[in-house]
Amino acid sequence: MHPHHLHALAAAWSLHDARQTLDDLARDEAAQIAAERLEAPSLLRSTVYGGRPGSGSHSDPTPRMIAVADRPERRNRWAEMAERCTTKVTWLARQLRTIDAPPVLDRMLTEGVLGPEGEDDPLDWLIVALRYALPGTAAAVLRHLLAEEAWVRPAIGQRRPTQLLIGATCPGCDRREVLTVQTAGPKTAWTVVCVGRWEDNQHNPCLCLGAECGCGMPGAVEGVAHIWRRDHVLRAVAGAAPTQTN
Ligand SMILES: [Zn+2]
Ligand SMILES: [Zn+2]
Repeated sequence: MHPHHLHALAAAWSLHDARQTLDDLARDEAAQIAAERLEAPSLLRSTVYGGRPGSGSHSDPTPRMIAVADRPERRNRWAEMAERCTTKVTWLARQLRTIDAPPVLDRMLTEGVLGPEGEDDPLDWLIVALRYALPGTAAAVLRHLLAEEAWVRPAIGQRRPTQLLIGATCPGCDRREVLTVQTAGPKTAWTVVCVGRWEDNQHNPCLCLGAECGCGMPGAVEGVAHIWRRDHVLRAVAGAAPTQTN
């Protein structure tokens, strides 16, 4: 697979995980709002307030209780965010379908690999369709996915999940302790990137030199941040360090 595809798929799986968190938050918030909705009127419907005489004035609803009962229902901002994100992803999936490889995707629809549009989640659909996109399209989709991720991840307070690959050397820049596994999505979709130099308060990944690069990447593209499939790197690491047992 082309580096542009791997970067786009990694971003898509990361967004996939982030959307699940967003959905969980939206569900919790909906439950909370429903609980509040039940709670407020029940205070007013208490038997004491229901007209039984002589119960004592201290049992009457306090101004605070009435304020709680009258306030407008809280908006579920997590649900709004999830919906906005789904709208964007749906739009993106549609772009992809109209741009590249419609015969392949149509065949997949016919064979039931993909459900009809609107049946499958648009991001699942996008992840399958991305493999058939041209590299340039994958790069364009990546930019949209990154923009979406840059908005969703800070909102949910989670970074893209990664694990440092201990003891491995980057075949691109020859540094140790820089290769990082991107662990969103299923293990078969995991990729490895190089975090490169830490400069200007950020990671500066090593960039591919193209055909002469030592990265061993099929279809190496000059100027693109290095990325490999995880199994490719694990095989290379195992080959370079035969004493390693796992
Ligand atoms: Zn590197
Ligand atoms: Zn390279």
